[in-house]
Amino acid sequence: GEPPVAAAVPQAGQDGLVLLRRVGVVDPLSLDDYRAQGGYQALRRAFQLGPTGVIREVTESGLVGRGGAAFPTGRKWEATARQPDHPHYLVCNADESEPGTFKDRVIMEGDPYALIEAMTVAAYATGCAKGYLYIRGEYPRARHALENAMATARARGLLGADILGQGFSFDIELRRGAGAYICGEETAIFNSIEGQRGEPRSKPPFPVEKGLFGKPTVVNNVETLVNVLPILERGAQAYRDAEPKLFCVSGNIVKPGVYELPFGATLRELLDLAGPTGTVRAVLLGGAAGAFVTDLDIPLTFEGTRQAGATLGSGVVLVLGDDVDLKAILLRIAEFFRDESCGQCVPCRVGTVRQEEALHRLSRRVDHSDLVLLREVGQTMRDASICGLGQTAWNAVESAIDRLGVFK
Ligand code: NAD
Ligand code: SF4
Repeated sequence: GEPPVAAAVPQAGQDGLVLLRRVGVVDPLSLDDYRAQGGYQALRRAFQLGPTGVIREVTESGLVGRGGAAFPTGRKWEATARQPDHPHYLVCNADESEPGTFKDRVIMEGDPYALIEAMTVAAYATGCAKGYLYIRGEYPRARHALENAMATARARGLLGADILGQGFSFDIELRRGAGAYICGEETAIFNSIEGQRGEPRSKPPFPVEKGLFGKPTVVNNVETLVNVLPILERGAQAYRDAEPKLFCVSGNIVKPGVYELPFGATLRELLDLAGPTGTVRAVLLGGAAGAFVTDLDIPLTFEGTRQAGATLGSGVVLVLGDDVDLKAILLRIAEFFRDESCGQCVPCRVGTVRQEEALHRLSRRVDHSDLVLLREVGQTMRDASICGLGQTAWNAVESAIDRLGVFK
């Protein structure tokens, strides 16, 4: 079934919003309404700039990937655009599955044309004639909104052959995931689309050189792509001056939901908006793959969270009050990774099982040798796993032991 999402977008329709400005305001099923609210201006601007001009603007904006890894988008686009091997493919990663992440869902349900327009801009810049929108299977409402948007855009000359009479052709195929967390890993998406098992491939080669069907491929997250619209509408410099970021706030909080703030606000400022239900014991930043923090004065930037030994990741801010059962939460996280490991490589396949077993024993009785074992297993998963799942499966547990004193 569809996972629960925060009931409200607390700031929808408020002044000053960039990414959420149309969410809750525009009719998500109406192309006319989308156009009346600024839609398709960015694509027109893209056609004026030409592919190289668009890449230059995106590079100058400083935009980095919002799926979690913060890789510079302009560099990714430029690297794909210059590949001599054709065709090039665009993949939008909409398999939003990190626990506590629901920002892409809010965009896709509330402003679906924005994603279709942004994919068209990305394809134009990087020389792709075909795009795949790989969407989490448990997002039926988002899928419905996107299918409607694609069909209408196609019927109105905004998708398909000769878009806006500019001689550029591009179309999108929507593919649904089937409930596997690992299928959000970019190379597992390729295997899934190609009809293989959804297992990650080793990188390098990176997708920009050898991706879907072995061809140069740009993979971008939903939020990353929609950022390209304000970059083109306002210009790179104006965008940089107040670069927007979405945060998914959940847990012991009065107003859970997706919040848009400019980069640099502190965790405390975000929590002041969302209203913790009581004393905050800790905040899990970055989701299950992230880390617990206790310092609320951390600036919410990729760099600031890294310096604090955490990660901004996909924008998860999971707030834990004083009365939470931390051991139960760690066990849930460990169970999640054990369950979602694709089993392809030993460190992760075995490590996630050993981690969960040790946590079970530790929750009954604290034994120093189990803490040593956890660290050894965790470090092995981090160093030797093929993909991000295994590499991050120990992060949250480690931070809970070191910073929150669990099992002391
Ligand atoms: P990564 O660092 O391997 O890569 C990030 C992106 O940069 C990829 O697209 C990769 O192809 C590209 N890249 C990296 N080096 C490159 C190079 N030299 N040349 C060209 N391209 C290059 O990270 P990843 O494994 O893709 O992602 C990990 C992140 O995913 C974590 O931060 C985690 O928070 C996040 N995540 C998000 C979700 C979600 O639901 N949004 C779910 C799970 C994980
Ligand atoms: Fe599969 Fe885990 Fe290895 Fe990733 S790290 S390839 S999920 S077994």
